[in-house]
Amino acid sequence: MAEIEPGVHRIGVGGGEVGAPETNIYLVQGSKSVAFIDSGFPESDKAEPLLRYWRETLGAPPVSWVLVSHLHHEHAGGVKLLKDATGARIGAGAADAADINREFGAGTKVIDLELIGDETFDLGDRTIRAIATPGHTAGNMCYFLEDAGLLCTGDHVMGQGTVVVRTDQGGSMADHVASLRLLKDLGANKMLSGHGPEVTDVNAKIDELVSHREQRELQFVELLKDGVTTIDEMLRRLYRDTPERLLTLARHQAIAHLEKLREEGRAVLIEEDISYRQA
Ligand SMILES: [Zn+2]
Repeated sequence: MAEIEPGVHRIGVGGGEVGAPETNIYLVQGSKSVAFIDSGFPESDKAEPLLRYWRETLGAPPVSWVLVSHLHHEHAGGVKLLKDATGARIGAGAADAADINREFGAGTKVIDLELIGDETFDLGDRTIRAIATPGHTAGNMCYFLEDAGLLCTGDHVMGQGTVVVRTDQGGSMADHVASLRLLKDLGANKMLSGHGPEVTDVNAKIDELVSHREQRELQFVELLKDGVTTIDEMLRRLYRDTPERLLTLARHQAIAHLEKLREEGRAVLIEEDISYRQA
C-alpha cells in the first residue's frame, strides 16, 4: 500500500485466481477527483483496505469513477461495495458488463457506462483513457494515464506469469495477441499490472509475450502435423511439468491456440473441447 508514482497509489488485496500473485488495485488522484482502477474482491472484509486507504490516507476525496479491467472476481467483484461507499460511477468493457451486473450487482445494474475503448475520464489535472484490449476476456480494458505514460493493464499483461485466454468467457488468442501488439504504439513508459510487479521495459515485455505465444502456437501446429488430435494428448506432451491444479488453465490455453488456428483455416475441429486435426 503506497504511492508508487506521483498521485498513483497501489493497494494489494490478496492473491488472485489459481497461481496468480497479489492482486493490485490502483487509486489515481487528480485535482478534482480520484478514480479506482479495478475494485477488488466481492467480500466486504477484502474491500476494507481499499476504503480505509481512500478515507484515512487520502482523506476521502470525491471518487468520480471505478474503472474495471475485466469481469474476473478479484478485479470486478467489489464494484457494488465501492459504488455504495463512495458514490462513484462504474465503467467496464461493454462485452463484460452483463456478466458483471449479474454476478456482482446484487440485483442492480451496477455498471453506469459500458466502454468500447477511447473514452476519457477527466480527474481535473489528469485524464485517463480507456484502451480496448480484448483477448483475456471479450470486454477486457486497459487504462492509460496519458500525462504520466502509465498503463494499467489488469490481466492483459501480468507483472509475472502468463495470462489465460478464456475462450469460454469470450476470450480469443488472436484478439489477445493483436491487443498486445497495439500497446506498443501507445508510448507508455511503465505498465502497472493487476497482479505482480510493475513492468518498466514496456516494448521488450510485449515482444517477449507475443513471442511466447508464437512459439506455443508453432508447437500446436507441429502436433497437428504429427497427427495428434486430442487435447488431452497435446496437454500431456506440452505441459508435462504443469501441476495438476493448473491443468484446467492449460486446457483453456490449448483451446485458445487451436481455435485461433481454426479461425485461420489451419486446423479443423473434430469434437468440441476434445479434438482437432490439421486442415
Ligand atoms: Zn482475469
